[in-house]
Amino acid sequence: MCLFAAVLLPAAPGKDAIAESGGSRTANYARPCEPAVHAAFLQLPPGAVEPAGWLRDWAESARDGITGHLDEWHPTFADGWKGTPIHAPGAKPDGTGWPLEQSAYWLDGALRLGFVLHDEALVRKIRARLDPVVEGVTRAEPGTTFIYWRHGYKPDGFEGWAHSQMGRALVTLYQGSGDRRVLDALVKVYADYPAGMGGIDLGGGDVSGLCNVDPMLETYSYCGDRRILDRVLRAFEQPGVAQALESWTAGRLSPGHTVIFYENMRLPALVYPWSADPSQINATLSAFRWLDENHTLPYGVASGEEFASGIGAFRKTETCDVTAMLLFTSWMYRIQGSREWGDRMERAFFNAGAAPVARDFQTMCYYQSPNRIRDGSLPCEQPNCPGPEGIRFHRLGCPTVLCCVGAVNRIIPSFIIHMWMATRDNGLAATLYGPCTVSALAGERVPVKVTTATDYPFGDRIRLGVEPRENVAFPLYLRIPGWCRAAQITVNGTPFAPVPDGRGFVRIARVWTKGDAVEIRFPMHPEAACGYETEFPSANRDYFNFEPAEVFRPRRLPYASVSCGPLLFSLPIPDTDPNTPAKDGRWQYALDLDPGKPDSGITVDRGPMPARWDWPLKSPVALLASARTFDWQPTDAQALPDRPVDGSASATIRLVPYGCTKFRISMFPVTPGTWLRQPAHGPLENPAASP
Ligand SMILES: [Zn+2]
Repeated sequence: MCLFAAVLLPAAPGKDAIAESGGSRTANYARPCEPAVHAAFLQLPPGAVEPAGWLRDWAESARDGITGHLDEWHPTFADGWKGTPIHAPGAKPDGTGWPLEQSAYWLDGALRLGFVLHDEALVRKIRARLDPVVEGVTRAEPGTTFIYWRHGYKPDGFEGWAHSQMGRALVTLYQGSGDRRVLDALVKVYADYPAGMGGIDLGGGDVSGLCNVDPMLETYSYCGDRRILDRVLRAFEQPGVAQALESWTAGRLSPGHTVIFYENMRLPALVYPWSADPSQINATLSAFRWLDENHTLPYGVASGEEFASGIGAFRKTETCDVTAMLLFTSWMYRIQGSREWGDRMERAFFNAGAAPVARDFQTMCYYQSPNRIRDGSLPCEQPNCPGPEGIRFHRLGCPTVLCCVGAVNRIIPSFIIHMWMATRDNGLAATLYGPCTVSALAGERVPVKVTTATDYPFGDRIRLGVEPRENVAFPLYLRIPGWCRAAQITVNGTPFAPVPDGRGFVRIARVWTKGDAVEIRFPMHPEAACGYETEFPSANRDYFNFEPAEVFRPRRLPYASVSCGPLLFSLPIPDTDPNTPAKDGRWQYALDLDPGKPDSGITVDRGPMPARWDWPLKSPVALLASARTFDWQPTDAQALPDRPVDGSASATIRLVPYGCTKFRISMFPVTPGTWLRQPAHGPLENPAASP
C-alpha cells in the first residue's frame, strides 16, 4: 500500500456525515463535517509539504539523530504504549504514567517527520508501534480507550492527558495514511469517552484530560458521529470550565505551568467554530495576550521553568513549551487566518526551535535561556524538575525527566506541515516561508506543485515555481510578514502590487501555467527593541523558593534585543561543544546604538549559505552593532544593571542568529543613548532601585 495515498486526496466523506453537517463539498480539503463557523484555512495532510534546502538538511539531521533513534536509547521510548510493565522514570507497575505521555510525544513527532520527509522506513517504524494500539481498540469491547484497551477503564488525571497525546498521534496517522481502520479506532474510543474530561485551569500545575478535545474534534470532522461532538460541547458546559473562561476574558489570570497554559488556553478557540460562541475564542485571545505581555521572551516563547517565571535575561524556557507554543499558534492560524500567527510561528521556530538542539541533532537540552554564559544555570541550579542538569545538552535532554526529548521531535515537522494551507476558494496559501515543495489540489481539483526556492530566513528572496498538471485558475495567497516594510512581488517578471488584505495576505488570482514564477523579496532591516526584565511572579513563589528574595520584588531592569526579519540575533560565545564555552569568549557589553541612524546604525553582513545546514556559528548572515564594554557581573539576584550604563571602550560586536548559538547574550544591558532614543518601552521607573 502506498504510504502517502492521502497526500493529494482528502478523506472521502460519508453520506451521513454530509447530511448531518449541512455538507461542504465544494472546497478542496474541506472535511466531511465542517463547523458552523468555518476556519480560515484548511490543513493539508502531512506529507503534502516536503522540506528542501537548509530545512531538509535540518529535518534529516533530526531523522538521523534523536527523532529517528530515540527508541534505541531508552525503555520509555522502546516500550511505551506496548501495554507491558517497563522500568523507566515515572512508570507505574502496569507501564502507565510518564512513559505514556513522553513516548506518545515521540511517536507523533517521528511519524510527522516520516511523512514530511516521505521516509518510508521511519513511517514503517512508527506504524509498527501505533498499529497494535489501533488493533487493540478494534478487538476490544465498546467503551475502551487507547490505554491497553481495558474494558470499563476511563482515564483521568495524568492518564487522561497522556491519552490525548496518543489521540493526536493517531489523528496524524489517519491524515497521513488515509487508513480507515485508524479512523474507526478513533471513533470507537471517542464516541464513548467520558464527557467530564477534566478542568481547564491555567494557573495550576495539573495537566488536563480536556486536551482530548483536540483529537476528538479532528475525529468528528472526518466521521460526523454526533456523540463525539456532544461530549466535547458538554465538557465545555461544566460549571468550572465556563467560570474559568469568564476569568480569562476579564484578565483574571495567574501564571502556572507553561506547557499547560499553552495547551489549555487553545481549547476554547478550538471549540468556537463548532459552538459559534465567540466568547470562547475571545477567552483564548485574552489569555494569550496576558501571557505574551508578562512572560514571553525575545525568542517568541514564554518562560517556563516548568512554571512561568516572568521576563528575564537568564530565565528559562522548557523545550516542551516550544512545541506547545507552535501547536497553539498553528491552531490559531488555521482558525483565524491572520498573518500575526504566521509571524509568531516563524519567530518561535527559527529561534527557540533551533537553540535547544545540538547542531548534529544528537543531543538536546531541557531548558534554553536568552543569555547563557556558562555550563550551568546562573548562579543557582534549578533544583526542581528536572534538576540541575536541565540546561546541559544530553542525548536524552535531561535523563531524569524525558518529556522534552519526546516533545522536541514535533517541532520541525509541525512547522513544515503548516508552511502551506488550502483556502476555501480552492486556492493555496503560503503561510510560513522556507525552502519546500507543496503538492496539493487547487482550483477544480487539479494537482499543483509549487516549489519554494529560498534561503529564508537567512536570505530575503523567495522564488515560487508553479507547476500545475494542466492550466488551472486558482488564487495564490502570500503572507506579507508584519515586520516587512516594503515587500516586492513580481509574477513572471511583471511587478504585482504587494497590498495585503485585512489578514495580511496578498492574493494573486490567475490561470496558472507550467513554468509560472512568482519572485518575492521581503527586505529585512535590523531592529532593536527595548524592554524590562521583570520580577518572578509571586504566584509561583513557593515553586521558585530556591531563588533569592530580591527577584520577587517588583523590578524594571532595562534591556535591548536585536532582530532582523523573523530572526533574533545574539552575541555568540564560541563553543567547542554544546556544553563547553570557549574560555576567551567576551560578552561583557552594553548595546550602544544610535536610533538616529538608519537601522540604529546596525549593518548587515551576508555571505553564502553553507553546503549543508547545521546552524553554524559562522552564519551566512550576521549583524554588526556598536557596544561599550563594562564590568558586568550578572548574578541570580541582579542579572542586568538597574539602569543604563555608560561603559568604557567602544567596540563593534558581531551578532549571529540566536539559533546558531549554544552560549550567548540576547538580552543586552544598554547605554543611555540606546535607551532614551528607543520608543515604546515607557519611562524608566525601577521599583527595585527605590528605597
Ligand atoms: Zn519537557
